[in-house]
Amino acid sequence: KKASIGVTGLAVMGRNLARNLARHGHTVALHNRSEARTRTLVEQFGDEGDFIPAYSAQEFVNALERPRQIVIMVQAGGPTDAVIEEFAPLLEPGDVIVDAGNAHFADTRRREAALRERGLHFVGTGVSGGEEGALNGPSIMPGGSKESYESLGPLFEDISAKVDGDPCCTHIGADGAGHFVKMVHNGIEYADMQLIAESFDLLRGAAGYSPAETADVFSTWNTGRLESYLIEITAEVLKHVDGSGKPFVDIVEDAAEQKGTGRWTVQIGLDLGVPISGIAEAVFARSLSGSKPLRAAARGLAGPARTPLKGAALETFADDVEQALYASKVVAYAQGFNQIQAGATEYGWDIDLGAVASIWRGGCIIRAKFLNDITAAYAEDPALPTLLTAGAFRKAVEDAQDSWRSVISTAVQLGIPTPGFSTALAYYDGLRADRLPAALVQGQRDFFGAHTYRRVDREGSFHTLWATDSRDEVGA
Ligand code: NDP
Repeated sequence: KKASIGVTGLAVMGRNLARNLARHGHTVALHNRSEARTRTLVEQFGDEGDFIPAYSAQEFVNALERPRQIVIMVQAGGPTDAVIEEFAPLLEPGDVIVDAGNAHFADTRRREAALRERGLHFVGTGVSGGEEGALNGPSIMPGGSKESYESLGPLFEDISAKVDGDPCCTHIGADGAGHFVKMVHNGIEYADMQLIAESFDLLRGAAGYSPAETADVFSTWNTGRLESYLIEITAEVLKHVDGSGKPFVDIVEDAAEQKGTGRWTVQIGLDLGVPISGIAEAVFARSLSGSKPLRAAARGLAGPARTPLKGAALETFADDVEQALYASKVVAYAQGFNQIQAGATEYGWDIDLGAVASIWRGGCIIRAKFLNDITAAYAEDPALPTLLTAGAFRKAVEDAQDSWRSVISTAVQLGIPTPGFSTALAYYDGLRADRLPAALVQGQRDFFGAHTYRRVDREGSFHTLWATDSRDEVGA
């Protein structure tokens, strides 16, 4: 019997993906650079399904049905190229190589083009949900050719998370589209986490809640429109009391680390010219938290008195923060989806944004009830310019704006940093403005660099002769 799919790279992610496939009745060929991982997998989990262990690349390739489908689950970058080069010469036209690691989408585009020349399908695939998701059902975002999805799709849909019976897997688009969408998913995840962290900081710093009390607030929020995996685990983390008897959040160093996908999202946002300020602030907030010498040097800089809230303001504060969090979250997602739209335009991908929201409802880190509303918004208008103007979101954000503004005012008054909330509101106000001071910026640019400007009342481009007393205008 031959295997319908093979997995090479059997560290935690590859092992769990292989087990997930086997548990769903698929025969899985196994391979890893060092043999020990393959042997251990078969020894420990061999009874979970049909595995064919292989101890050489040729043996692995021979174990597979045609068209062969090989999932690579190794470190992104050089190791992925090395593994592709190991297998590609052994494959035949029509075979499929899947990279399920966290590759940069530009690498995926390069690899896809090179392998297409050799008659092979290359499918860069985003996989979200960590090791638990890989085993029990991740959210899967495959790119690559439509043709490759015909054979691969059913397998991946089978092992993906399910929500309301729908698989959390769909063909995203050609070449690097899957890894691009996974990248933006991670960027949104950064923004979501930052906004939640700011909510906690405000509840504690402005309203005087203990960590345990904030945990209760998050648990309550998790029964409403904010219901999501991240809110759920936030309550768990905040409830946790360390062995020392102190709240866990107080014994952990306040320096957030990052592995780089948030940074990629921001870099590409800059390249595409998409204002993803929520994601950018979240990445910068992590950088600031980790800038130890800078923070040490600045300790002691004056701030306002931290007079805690009292009376009516205190009473409504948790609700106000919920509104601010919700509205800021809508902005972060609106920006992220705009980035996917911009990527699709730039690289010629036909991406169904509603389907993307739908496959993020389960398995992945940003899974949330809220995503149903995004799918509904794009179902109503696939060309929606921004989620902020979609029926349900528009009303909710407009209703939230008084609280949103009041929470940010409180934060400013008390000196509590809320980069995520603040940039989200600035974006909202920027988008809805009739006139922006960008007109002045154009004037400055024209003054010092003769960069020209366009007028509201006439076609063409113009330059004012700023150096002359008459300030005559020349047009083209
Ligand atoms: P690692 O990223 O730690 O990679 C270890 C695996 O890569 C091992 O199987 C190792 O083989 C193999 N490897 C490394 N270099 C080479 C090489 N030059 N040639 C052949 N094989 C090599 O494993 P993870 O399981 O943590 O992650 C796998 C991929 O999945 C990564 O791209 C990661 O970014 C991505 N990912 C991880 C998530 C997570 O939660 N961990 C979540 C989503 C995606 P050997 O055993 O011989 O050393």
